Amino acid sequence: MSPSPSDNDANPLASSSDTGRFGPYGGSFIPETLSAALDELVLAYEAVRGEPEFWSEFDRLLARFVGRPTPLYRVEQLERAWAEPGKAPRIYFKREDLAHTGAHKINNSLGQALLAQSKLGKKRIIAETGAGQHGVATATACALLGLDCVIYMGLEDTRRQALNVFRMKLLGAEVVAVESGSQTLKDAINEAMRDWVTNVDDTHYILGSVLGPHPFPTIVRDFQSVIGKEARAQILDAEGRLPTHLVACVGGGSNAIGLFHPFLADSDVAMIAVEAGGEGVDTGRHAARFAEKKVGVLHGTKTYLLEDENGQIRETHSVSAGLDYPAVGPEHAQLHDEGRVEYVSATDEEALAAFQDCARLTGIIPALESAHAVAHLRKLAACASDSDLILVNMSGRGDKDVQSVARILEEAP
Ligand SMILES: *Cc1c(COP(=O)(O)O)cnc(C)c1O
Repeated sequence: MSPSPSDNDANPLASSSDTGRFGPYGGSFIPETLSAALDELVLAYEAVRGEPEFWSEFDRLLARFVGRPTPLYRVEQLERAWAEPGKAPRIYFKREDLAHTGAHKINNSLGQALLAQSKLGKKRIIAETGAGQHGVATATACALLGLDCVIYMGLEDTRRQALNVFRMKLLGAEVVAVESGSQTLKDAINEAMRDWVTNVDDTHYILGSVLGPHPFPTIVRDFQSVIGKEARAQILDAEGRLPTHLVACVGGGSNAIGLFHPFLADSDVAMIAVEAGGEGVDTGRHAARFAEKKVGVLHGTKTYLLEDENGQIRETHSVSAGLDYPAVGPEHAQLHDEGRVEYVSATDEEALAAFQDCARLTGIIPALESAHAVAHLRKLAACASDSDLILVNMSGRGDKDVQSVARILEEAP
């Protein structure tokens, strides 16, 4: 499954100063036809990194359009409900659920759309989407900036997420239903990459997580790091010290790396990323990539992924569409091997319980993805000490999930 290192060395990007390697992971395993587009993106992003005008325009839009900074909110109800008496930790939520469009994804979509317009001079944007959240965020950024927008979505997903398809169309995007393969996210990414190869002159591809070939994992991480930068300043302001624990759910890994990155050098801050345990990691029906520890290449990057006994990419399962992807961002693979971040999982059942309990106890309905982080918070709080300070990323709000949860609860015995 893993190509030899020489496959990667043949890529022109390998000669760039930053090759997008995260230890043995990452890199750029792509067809020749995409190398020009990725080279152009590497150069544009390197240029933009040192341009204060770009970042001040990005910050201005994050403040005025997205509603940043998002609040850091102390959740005393959960401290009381979930900890041993006398041993309650302090618990905070970073409220990405209050960002415009309801999740952290807008941070990345807006950053890349701005990059495409101001630096790459491209007028057409394409993106993939699974449940539709990244598609909605990208269509929103394109409406704001006056860019053409085409969203690739598996046919099966367009049926499951009809409301988000309508939202994207309202925002002026064209939604292309992908009929190949399993008609889900993986196939939508393949189709978006095919479009990009054909239309690279006027088109930028906004990838939705810290995945894909270099430089995407770096670009997406940098745009999402606003979460951790804000959270760091906010917790120091509120508590006068750093958190003892950070907790985030991990699909591709963008909300988690966005929170973690500005704390990586703080060795006393423990970090826990929560994968989708689906029906249980023993059943094989899950999206817990670190539970099986297979390394391979998917969508241009080398990382941990889920494969079947023949080395083929496996169908994953999770109650939460945003965590339902067979690979994980390559920087997470490195952080796992270094032991800097602990990777755990929460099952569908645990996430569904956390979804309901969090709503009832706090007045916040979490996204099903974020409910995996909340499910782990519950386990952490139960064995915490009163000096612990736990910060959980509430990556998105649950409005999008209430219908499917209602359906699941009605069917449950
Ligand atoms: C898409 C999504 C995720 C998973 O994506 P990451 O790149 O792992 O952050 C998590 N939470 C919400 C609310 C999402 O929409």
